[in-house]
Amino acid sequence: MDAQPLGSRPVWRTEALCRGKPAAWFIASGSGRVRTTNPALELCVHCSVTERCLDEALAKPQWSLGIWAGTMPRERAGIAKSMRDGCATRT
Ligand code: SF4
Repeated sequence: MDAQPLGSRPVWRTEALCRGKPAAWFIASGSGRVRTTNPALELCVHCSVTERCLDEALAKPQWSLGIWAGTMPRERAGIAKSMRDGCATRT
C-alpha cells in the first residue's frame, strides 16, 4: 500500500536520509565530477526508501530535478523510457 500523505508530503519521506540535509547537495549538474563527489549520492546508497523515492521522481518528472534515489535526471529519463518500452529493470 502506498504511503499516506503527511501534510503535503508522503509519509515515506520521514524516513529519508536526506531530511534536513542541504538542498544544494541534490542539485545535479550532470558532470562526472559531481556524480562521483556529491554527498547526496552517498546518502542515497544507504537510504531505506530509495524505491519509493525513485517511484515518485518517475511519476513527477517535472518536479524532480536534481538527484533522487541516487539517480540524475538523465538516468531517470532513461529508466522512464525503458519502462514505457516495456524493458525496464530498475536497480
Ligand atoms: S533515496 Fe536519496 S533522495 Fe531519495 S529519499 Fe533517500 S536520501 Fe533522499
